[in-house]
Amino acid sequence: MNGLCEEFQKLSAKGWDMLAKGHHILSEPTITELLLLDLLELEDKYSIHTRKFNSYEEGTITGADWELWLIHDKGGICIRFQAKKLDSITLRYEELDYSNIKSKFQVDRLIEDAKRKNAIPLYLFYNYWSGKIHIPWKCRSFSEDKKLLGYAIADAHKIKKFIESKIKNLSNILTVSYPWHCLVCCEGYVDSTSIDKLILPKKSLHFIVKALMRRDIKSSNQEFYQKIPDYVQMMLHHDINDKNAEIYKEKVNARYVTVVEDKKK
Ligand SMILES: [Zn+2]
Repeated sequence: MNGLCEEFQKLSAKGWDMLAKGHHILSEPTITELLLLDLLELEDKYSIHTRKFNSYEEGTITGADWELWLIHDKGGICIRFQAKKLDSITLRYEELDYSNIKSKFQVDRLIEDAKRKNAIPLYLFYNYWSGKIHIPWKCRSFSEDKKLLGYAIADAHKIKKFIESKIKNLSNILTVSYPWHCLVCCEGYVDSTSIDKLILPKKSLHFIVKALMRRDIKSSNQEFYQKIPDYVQMMLHHDINDKNAEIYKEKVNARYVTVVEDKKK
């Protein structure tokens, strides 16, 4: 197991335990901030960089809370997340069908903005539930453990279908959810003869396209794999500060950006 994989699993379990204690107190933006804080702490060990670009209010307009770049050398993939917290009592994602004043669903903004940036729109779910429920376990690399779904991911297009059918309960959403560690370590979806199976963004892309989206890898590979933009390049060199972050905020169009580079420090 690579180091990053283990770290992502630990964070998921930490998120689960945190919500077990404080689900009635913690709000969704707070959980996102605590997750980013945990990622900041990994900066000493891994090449992970996080910056804030937009305010919370601006983030609710773009539909994306967080942009994550998984990169290798000068290329990589961009994932745009909308975060949603499970109501641990009703076992529903009560805010899933959120729409802003223009009566447009947040999910549509998320998908449209991602398309413009050749990014992958995903939901990031913050989960905790007590008691036993049936889990349609979908990770092909690790065995079932509900704490690994503390941070879970799903394709925004699949969530859009649920929203349109007014479905927002956990049992349905779990049928399209994967532990978030699959983003960095699910090798169960990579073609074993593939020469790039060990390169982080390529491995991740195989999982995203084949598992999350259930699409044909050939057509999707090209469109999502892209040259990293200037602000990501600058983040790698620590050239982004509070002042020039302002210049890029419209281009970024998300509250936070994290860049994960495929190398250990
Ligand atoms: Zn997996």
